[in-house]
Amino acid sequence: MKIEEVTKSIEVVNEAKLYLIDMDKWYMVENNKAIDGVILGGENIFRLLSGMAEFVRKHDGFSLAVYHYNIGPIKWIWASCIIYKVNNMWQRVQIENIVCESCGWKGEIANPTIPSLYDTVKDRQGALNFAWNLPEVKCPKCAKKLKRNAIWAQ
Ligand SMILES: [Zn+2]
Repeated sequence: MKIEEVTKSIEVVNEAKLYLIDMDKWYMVENNKAIDGVILGGENIFRLLSGMAEFVRKHDGFSLAVYHYNIGPIKWIWASCIIYKVNNMWQRVQIENIVCESCGWKGEIANPTIPSLYDTVKDRQGALNFAWNLPEVKCPKCAKKLKRNAIWAQ
């Protein structure tokens, strides 16, 4: 299976090419386990990917993206992340479960400040600085600051 067969669009985010998965074709990835002849990962990776796929299906504004991660001068593997559209720009995020320390609210947040999200980005520090400066959302219940950086919470 080729990446073009399961991609809805290609976006350049932080000067790195991301392939946005067409979720109607996700089952093809789950069945094949490999794209362009490169296996996405073992059971654990696929459990993680299935969780990510389920999340982006349920929540507007999010997409599942895969990208090349170089592990040598000519070798690469697939890496993946969830991206979220803020101010018309895609932002890499990590979805986290969180509890508000002020009111006990429990929910999910999108955190853009995880360094490993930007491993393949040339200006990694610049991308991280940008992520830290995005407008933060507060607790949806009590409006206090959350202990983790969030640009989305629900
Ligand atoms: Zn709260």
